[in-house]
Amino acid sequence: MIRTIWAVGRNYLEHIKELGNTAPVSTTGEERGEPLIFAKAGGCVVANGRMLRYPSFSKDVHHETELAVRLKIEGDGRASFDAFTVALDLTCRDLQNTLKTKGQPWELAKSFVDACPLGDWVPVSRLGRSSSDENFEALQNLQLCLRVNGEERQRGTTADMIFKVRELCDYLVSRFPVQDGDVLLTGTPAGVGPIAPGDVLEAEIVGFTRANWGVRTP
Ligand code: ZN
Repeated sequence: MIRTIWAVGRNYLEHIKELGNTAPVSTTGEERGEPLIFAKAGGCVVANGRMLRYPSFSKDVHHETELAVRLKIEGDGRASFDAFTVALDLTCRDLQNTLKTKGQPWELAKSFVDACPLGDWVPVSRLGRSSSDENFEALQNLQLCLRVNGEERQRGTTADMIFKVRELCDYLVSRFPVQDGDVLLTGTPAGVGPIAPGDVLEAEIVGFTRANWGVRTP
């Protein structure tokens, strides 16, 4: 069972712009500031091939297609990963905008029932590298893709992340009670948009894994 899903907001420049959020002064080095971390409950997961329930309290649920990694705490206390897959960080955009305006936390918009469709885990060995550093490096050159009802909605590369997965892992363990088996969602590239009951969502990490979910009314 997954205990906690850690997630990062605003980790791709083009996505920051499409939502009208303020872009960092620079996308490299110290000027990036710190990553924007939030959590989704482990119970939000919907497995590959299942139906997810569209929440009754939102009229604008958005897909955010993200690389997900399964975290593992190493002997030296650093976090690494033993598997990866594609995930959707589903977000009630209408609620999130209201919460942002009020300066309130995002949980209502991010951690609702079925808010985290998750693909099948791909073992790290599939990256074909021989060291932990090389595995982290390989994660930064993956192609993410989402189709809704057969039509492409999102396509992006993990090369465009502002904070790389290695940095996110180090940051997480320095601030939060990360445990083996927790999941990290690494942010969405641009192209987010609404889903609706009746939709079929197909997400992919090109060359590694594909997953699909149906959307139904609550
Ligand atoms: Zn996200």
